[in-house]
Amino acid sequence: MTRLFLAFSVILVIYMPAAAQENEANQYAIVGGMMVDGYEAPPVHNSVILVHGNRIVAAGPAHEVIVPDGIPVIDARGKTVMPGLIDLHIHLDLIGHGDYDEYYNFLGGTKRLPDVMPIAAKHMMRAGVTTGVDLGSPFDILAVRDKIRAGIIPGPRLIVSGPWITRIKLDGVPDSYQVVIDSPEEAAAKALELIDAGSDVIKTWLGLTRDDLKAVVKAAHSRGVKVHSHLYKVPAMEDAIAAGVDVLQHVGSAKMPPYPQALLRKIAEDRIPVVQTIAHRIWVYPATEANPGRLNTPELEADMPPDVFAEMQRSFKNFRALSYFRDTPDEIRHSKINARQFIDANAYMGVGTDAASPMNFHTEAIWREMSALVDSGMTPARAISAATKSGAEIIGMGRDLGTLETGKLADIIIVDGNPLADINTLDYVAVTIKDGNVWYDPKYTSAVLKQIGQAF
Ligand SMILES: [Zn+2]
Repeated sequence: MTRLFLAFSVILVIYMPAAAQENEANQYAIVGGMMVDGYEAPPVHNSVILVHGNRIVAAGPAHEVIVPDGIPVIDARGKTVMPGLIDLHIHLDLIGHGDYDEYYNFLGGTKRLPDVMPIAAKHMMRAGVTTGVDLGSPFDILAVRDKIRAGIIPGPRLIVSGPWITRIKLDGVPDSYQVVIDSPEEAAAKALELIDAGSDVIKTWLGLTRDDLKAVVKAAHSRGVKVHSHLYKVPAMEDAIAAGVDVLQHVGSAKMPPYPQALLRKIAEDRIPVVQTIAHRIWVYPATEANPGRLNTPELEADMPPDVFAEMQRSFKNFRALSYFRDTPDEIRHSKINARQFIDANAYMGVGTDAASPMNFHTEAIWREMSALVDSGMTPARAISAATKSGAEIIGMGRDLGTLETGKLADIIIVDGNPLADINTLDYVAVTIKDGNVWYDPKYTSAVLKQIGQAF
């Protein structure tokens, strides 16, 4: 009897956010915070944001926005209120394990993906990431995407590629991660098959010719789907640009010597979206050397089944020897020039992290990437706008996401500090609101948060 009752109450609690999402009675105000709205504009001090259902119905200074009587008020005094972050390059199947081969062996190929994907999704919400573009996973991800959409588990709004298209097979990754092609016709046919199977975007990986890319782009665009390409070398970038690829992923992430000015100029002039992913080796590795304790925290341990956590810790034993970081000293030297080349050229940029590559946990990846962009020449306001407004535009959701404005979806984070003064304060996300549903870090609990939200 007791057990039955408990099971019933757990189900009620789990379904609460989904109810809020559609529930017009879901109404609250966020009052007193410094609002950074996603534009590269000065902040609004003492702001008020009204949420009704899953939308923002008003946002502005306290003297302009009236809080209706009787609705719950989240006190944001001393904190920063800003749009939910958009990570344009994530891997929901990864949680930061040190070595891909060993990780997939441990998971039994893809068998335990349903155990680890929800951990990654929760970590991203903790980091304030409310939308993520997953670039490369088996279609096991669709079930997780749908559970998040239904409000059954916490996680960001997911846009997924499913398996990537490549001419070169990647060993050590299960076959269901990749579609290997050897002609433009096959590339186009596979792109359409992927879209039919559930891909929201197409990802291309290695070895595709210019004609392959043209065929993929034509097929994807015929269905209104964007193409993201994994690129480092100049000739591959030129092929992608000529083929009309929508988003250039990884360029500028310091694997290469400096890029030619003419290429940078073309990318900036044509506003071809760039996602650099610079932090995942170049900043994460020295941060770990400086403080190896970041790999083993009670927060990480609490989120994982004991055997998964133990296996992660084993993989970090001699992190300096991990093959993922083999070229990192060279990359650190390259990064001094080419991580800032795209920033100085004023390329149109979103923010992507490649999380959770080795030691690049979803809980930290986005602020580390934004911090690396600031180190490389962005102002904090530009890095925030790249991770919000530009990110939304790049995925074609600029009308609904990316800024705090009347009519937009209520994807909002409350940060304990001022990221305009110190971007690293994005490490302290107190509240993450997605689609109007409130999730909070238990460290920042309050009576109102308990009433209208859920702890992570
Ligand atoms: Zn990636």
